Amino acid sequence: MFSNKQEFQQAFLKRLEMLCGKPFKESTKNDHFLTLGQMIREHVSSNWIHTKEKYRTSQEKQVYYLSIEFLLGRLLRHNLMNLGIEELVEGGLQELGVDLEELEEIESDAGLGNGGLGRLAACFLDSLSSLNLPGHGCGIRYRHGLFEQKFVDGYQVELPEQWLRYGQVWEIRKTDLAVEVPFWGEIESYFENNRLSFRHINAEVVTAVPYDLPVIGYHTDTVNTLRLWSAEPSPYPFYQDVMKYKRETEAISEFLYPDDTHDDGKILRLKQQYLLVSASIRSIIRSFRATHRPINELPNRIAIHINDTHPVMAIPELMRILLDEEKLGWEEAWDITTNTISYTNHTTLSEALEKWPVRLFKPLLPRIYMIIEEINRRFCEKLWEINPGDWDRIHNMSIIVNDEVKMAHLALVGSYSVNGVAQIHTDILKNREMNLFYQVFPEKFNNKTNGITHRRWLLKSNPKLSSLITSAIGTGWIQSPQELIKLTEFKEDKGFLDKLQSVKQENKERFSQRVFEQTGITIDPHSIFDVHVKRLHAYKRQLLNVLHIMHLYNRLKEDSSFRLYPRTFIFGAKASPGYYYAKKIIKLINTVAEKINGDPAVQDQLKVVFLENYRVSVAEELFPAADVSEQISTASKEASGTGNMKLMMNGALTVGTLDGANVEIKERVGLENIFIFGLTAEEVLHFYQKGGYHSMEYYHHDKKIRHVIDQLTNGYFPDVDDEFEPIYDSLLIQNDQYFVLRDFDSYVSIHKEVERKFKNRDQWIKMSLQNIAASGYFSSDRTIKEYADDIWKIKPV
Ligand SMILES: *Cc1c(COP(=O)(O)O)cnc(C)c1O
Repeated sequence: MFSNKQEFQQAFLKRLEMLCGKPFKESTKNDHFLTLGQMIREHVSSNWIHTKEKYRTSQEKQVYYLSIEFLLGRLLRHNLMNLGIEELVEGGLQELGVDLEELEEIESDAGLGNGGLGRLAACFLDSLSSLNLPGHGCGIRYRHGLFEQKFVDGYQVELPEQWLRYGQVWEIRKTDLAVEVPFWGEIESYFENNRLSFRHINAEVVTAVPYDLPVIGYHTDTVNTLRLWSAEPSPYPFYQDVMKYKRETEAISEFLYPDDTHDDGKILRLKQQYLLVSASIRSIIRSFRATHRPINELPNRIAIHINDTHPVMAIPELMRILLDEEKLGWEEAWDITTNTISYTNHTTLSEALEKWPVRLFKPLLPRIYMIIEEINRRFCEKLWEINPGDWDRIHNMSIIVNDEVKMAHLALVGSYSVNGVAQIHTDILKNREMNLFYQVFPEKFNNKTNGITHRRWLLKSNPKLSSLITSAIGTGWIQSPQELIKLTEFKEDKGFLDKLQSVKQENKERFSQRVFEQTGITIDPHSIFDVHVKRLHAYKRQLLNVLHIMHLYNRLKEDSSFRLYPRTFIFGAKASPGYYYAKKIIKLINTVAEKINGDPAVQDQLKVVFLENYRVSVAEELFPAADVSEQISTASKEASGTGNMKLMMNGALTVGTLDGANVEIKERVGLENIFIFGLTAEEVLHFYQKGGYHSMEYYHHDKKIRHVIDQLTNGYFPDVDDEFEPIYDSLLIQNDQYFVLRDFDSYVSIHKEVERKFKNRDQWIKMSLQNIAASGYFSSDRTIKEYADDIWKIKPV
């Protein structure tokens, strides 16, 4: 396409005129962005076609990763970097007077996800392509991604997100590959060649149109595909009320569900799930059929992975195709299906385990429901054979029970592999939550500790640290992130440690500047940047953090001799719009921030910043500047976490409970390089089972706790009336089910330890180095290699 700066510039100017119909001197930043985006897409097109051709002709197995969310973020610089043309393009544009950084800012985050689960899917795509593995993503092209968050008077307000407003430069609409997805209607049975067969009649048909995005590997020729489905009215059938049909159809891919932990029994959500599954499986089978191989070879050629239970209807959908279209017998179809589909469990929170009322499910998806009934009948029969007469066991394991379909049970029965996302999470699945299934299918269970792509979360977002690392250990770590461990050789190298210290300081100054521009708040770049960013959820315990801040502020106010090492607490979090309690916590953090930031007496010691609209691009700016990473979930509740890994990789030290991947971070850095506090998962689970925790005792016996809790409701905060009563109630009346008060003292102590360690700058920077050095394990390249070898059995092509 273009091999030097001049060629690039000529092509850019020519393309700009053609695309925007105006000369360069009249063009806008937006024109520049669109032009560059198109050029990049064109630049990859030959490799993209070549990759597809290679997959078509090779005998190698491919994986399809089905996920209801892909939290991609911005793609411009990431794509330039992976293509290896970042410098050329940046320099070429600069000579034309165009600033690449400004163009980056124009791009909206592709926010097709809520948080960790969707971001994991995005990291996996990057690793698949960068490792030359044949793997594709399948998702939904929501017209509006996760809502945009604003604070008004300290309350969260949600605005519809508009990522498609200026046209999506990366995607290609593939109208000719559209598939028809049926909802509602009836199932008619008939005999054909002595075989009972079924057909779906009177269905309402929705057209699923794919939009393909190239997934560009880092410095390789591999370009895989992320296929996102959009729901459109079918051009064929005639409906009485055409407008209503059009509206209802388009609604399916209109919005991302703003919650990954509650499912409020919405038909729309079920329609989204089936649209994703049905369109994806149909298109997978279509390309398999084009190879003219016998259908029983499917599991040798294709692996289908479901990211949590949202796409679990892949199981009955594949059965439907094998039974109704391929005319296989049940056993053969089941054998193929259960050797093709694998499943990742993301949570043990009972409120997040999907259950669908039969009364909604059955009329909407009649054939799928019939097949699930038959899967369940056979499964229960098998259970009966293993444990005759054990009705309780069957009741607890059944896929359909109490007029509900339990999606996790379907996933456990219909897949060949079930993995948790961190060792402690997998252990809890095996020994507790899914133990009954573990007894029946021990061979299915395995662990795959999550990872993040170090290319986005270090190489791209922290260029200063990346250069420093490269200057010390060479570039090998970019391809083999575990080489970061070589950095430990520099732990006594004063010169290197000073440079590391300067990089962090420069990043903090840059971030302080951003905060000032965006919020008008001045923060001290020499203070400790204490970062707590993630979705707002009771179990993630942002409340524990803010109560601790209130406590520190109380100390400063009460004791004029008490000095705090300057500290900036930084929050970022969206609450699901319907999550009342989470919104109260947002209001509390904003209220505390206002009070503290408005008090001149503590300005040099304490600041609280709550960043609006936390998302991937904000995370990328923040992490390079972080000193402390707050990972303080109630032990046993956070399956893995990935924010913890991103922050560690950027040299932040973790303050954390022994939960999720924190446990493995601790194992890799050693107890002396992490701040662990609070109850263990064992202890928490023990309390849940046996009782014995009374939060009121902590209130009565601990003065500092009593003080902050009273401040929630005694008029300490002006103009909020009874705003925080629900928080007070949850802590004292409802016995604090997340153990905030139980862990409070331990949290206060560990933060004293943090302060002590930070004051010794040489020691701190050494600890930071140890964290960066040990973070290579948490690259998603390691995770994806494990999936590829152990679960999918795929090889680089
Ligand atoms: C990584 C990431 C998350 C997940 O964070 P956790 O701390 O693991 O919950 C959520 N949102 C964004 C934007 C992220 O980049």
